[in-house]
Amino acid sequence: MDPKQFREAAQSAIDEIARYYETVADRRVLPSVAPGYLQALLPDAAPDEGEEWNKIQADIDRVIMPGLTHWQSPKFMAFFPCNSSFPAMLGDMYSGAFNAAAFNWICSPAVTELETIMMDWVAKMLNLPDCFLSKGEGGGIIQGTASEVVVTSVVAARERIIRRRLADMPEGEEKMDKASEMRGKLVALGSEHAHSSTQKAALIAGTRFRSVPAPREDGFRVTASALRQTIESLKAKGLEPFYFTITLGTTATCAVDDLEGIAELTKDYPDLWIHVDAAYAGSALVCPEYQHHCKPFAHFDSFNFNLHKWLLVNFDCSAFFIRKRRDLTDTYTLTPSYLRNEFTDKGLVTDYRDWQIPLGRRFRSLKVWFVLRSYGINGLRAFIRNHVQLGEYFHSLIASRPDLFTVVSGPAFGLTTFHVNPRRPGASRSESPSANGASSSATTTADKPNPQHEAYLNDFTADANAHWQADANQLTKEVYEHVNSQG
Ligand code: PLP
Repeated sequence: MDPKQFREAAQSAIDEIARYYETVADRRVLPSVAPGYLQALLPDAAPDEGEEWNKIQADIDRVIMPGLTHWQSPKFMAFFPCNSSFPAMLGDMYSGAFNAAAFNWICSPAVTELETIMMDWVAKMLNLPDCFLSKGEGGGIIQGTASEVVVTSVVAARERIIRRRLADMPEGEEKMDKASEMRGKLVALGSEHAHSSTQKAALIAGTRFRSVPAPREDGFRVTASALRQTIESLKAKGLEPFYFTITLGTTATCAVDDLEGIAELTKDYPDLWIHVDAAYAGSALVCPEYQHHCKPFAHFDSFNFNLHKWLLVNFDCSAFFIRKRRDLTDTYTLTPSYLRNEFTDKGLVTDYRDWQIPLGRRFRSLKVWFVLRSYGINGLRAFIRNHVQLGEYFHSLIASRPDLFTVVSGPAFGLTTFHVNPRRPGASRSESPSANGASSSATTTADKPNPQHEAYLNDFTADANAHWQADANQLTKEVYEHVNSQG
């Protein structure tokens, strides 16, 4: 493909993508294909000769569309969102065009410098403490996902505590033996509701993992006293807790661990690396009404959130902020001769390869730049607030029908969790309290587990269309109508 052919192909692709977005709301969200559907539609091997673009493009509709789940549909209700915007797509296009591995500053100075500036813009937009800005000892870097950030932090935390504990030992075999012995005793911690990435990171780092209780009566959040108790009980067994993921917006309920209490506790455990995982809810910190959460961050080592979840930057874009960048570079800097250059040697530049696990890196800051400039901070705030309001409206609908639903948590950052009340055997729909006159009887049914609970649930499922599902559909319809009336 030459530039002329590219121009034509790209125009046609962009037309198709714009049309896709214009019609996505009308498409069925879930595909109805069976596993392995694609094999039957594609040849067994790559073609020997190149094909024309129009033939390739036609296969998007024929081959790919039937197997797509339309995450960008307003009717997509699963998981946290993975939002998208046209400015971000343009950023990805330019990133593809300027394609470079960009691991060192010298590889392409604009890639490194724009990333540093964008991370400072984001830090200021969220009102993060100054220690996370690049002008001091900290700074930000873009990673692909929150899970990558967590593993990067856990490994850096592991190495930091070993460096600190063995600082007086001379380099050599004996020190390495001691370090191995220490690693076996290290324990990474996370709330029982922390994302599984912390446990996975401990697995990768070769350390132990323990969860800290976050029971319902504490609002599914880790309190400082629960964390202290877990730490002390592990220490009593001769183990060494070295890392804790504090969550701002847990995956299950969007709970926020006790940031202030745990910030206090750091005084007693100076070697404990605390990472704030705000993968989803962190985007809400653009709004001043949420920024009180950021104050205690000054006591924590690192923080991340996914702009690709809720801040209009397309996947992948996880912003990772560190209070002392040396905690990363002391772990990850390994410089074989082919990576050396005068700018690095003179300490004049940031080489992001020293902050992360991979060497190569994409030009992801372009899409951040395009989004921040296209929407402005006020546009992003309006976007988040609209979602939060919709979430609160949804909560009000659910809460208005205690005969059908029991709210478990929320609304928090737009998320309400609820369960569908089991149906009492033999109860007819008319026996249930009405939307307006909700009595406590159905709620009581839900609160007191009945030995035949499972049977009721099966009954509920079987009977869903006739009774309960119809109401759920009605609620969903109301939400759509409300969304649509908002434009
Ligand atoms: N942390 C939290 C709190 C999450 O909710 C999620 C996913 O939803 C993750 C981490 C993992 O995100 P990623 O896919 O970016 O690794």
